[in-house]
Amino acid sequence: MITNSIVHKYLFGAIAGVLGDMVTPEVAAAWDEVGWLMAGALIGREARLYRDAAVERGEVWRQWTVIERRTETPNTVPFLLTPSDGEPAPRARAGQYVSVRVRMAAGARQSRQYSLSSDPGEDLRRITVKLVAGTAGEPAGEVSTLLPEQVRDGDGLTLSTPFGDVFLDAPDNATDPLVPGPRASAARP
Ligand SMILES: Cc1cc2nc3c(=O)[nH]c(=O)nc-3n(C[C@H](O)[C@H](O)[C@H](O)COP(=O)(O)OP(=O)(O)OC[C@H]3O[C@@H](n4cnc5c(N)ncnc54)[C@H](O)[C@@H]3O)c2cc1C
Repeated sequence: MITNSIVHKYLFGAIAGVLGDMVTPEVAAAWDEVGWLMAGALIGREARLYRDAAVERGEVWRQWTVIERRTETPNTVPFLLTPSDGEPAPRARAGQYVSVRVRMAAGARQSRQYSLSSDPGEDLRRITVKLVAGTAGEPAGEVSTLLPEQVRDGDGLTLSTPFGDVFLDAPDNATDPLVPGPRASAARP
């Protein structure tokens, strides 16, 4: 509710700043109603995401340990991770992603999303980071550079619970192999 009030305060401050005198009491009341409706819808959606991921609010981030870091190509680096506390990992489904949260040298915290790139089984996760190289006028990607350059076997990484609602809806005990097809689709034979 605090977050909601903060969003409300600054969103409506911005609306009033942009619209100025056009914000009559009726216009303000209409924007107010829309704002609370949107907030309610988003808060409800967020609660459903936590419920589907089987985590409590505020328990999204966990510490993981890199147990294998490979250099597959000069700019493609997979990381195999295990929960640092040895506790079971929340369920992950093919097609989902995790957010990786890192602290940059300047102190800012950044998070980026990485798809789960294979199913190593048990409580392991594998992500594959492709380095976003810089070009003339465009800097190299911050996090995709930091991870391959600085993270080694035994290092810790902060990962979110897996999210994403585009996933393979297969039973947990499915054993048929997946056959990737054209246009990045995949199907069971
Ligand atoms: C659901 C999802 C899944 C993903 N899965 C993967 C995955 O499996 N593997 C993977 O490698 N990536 C994946 N990504 C992308 C990943 O999250 C990052 O976006 C990617 O690694 C780049 O992050 P970065 O911090 O390196 O780049 P950033 O620092 O965020 O930069 C992004 C781009 O902006 C440009 N840029 C930054 N600042 C400026 C500026 N001042 N002027 C001009 N241009 C600028 C950079 O040159 C770069 O091209 C996924 C993204 C999503 C949303």
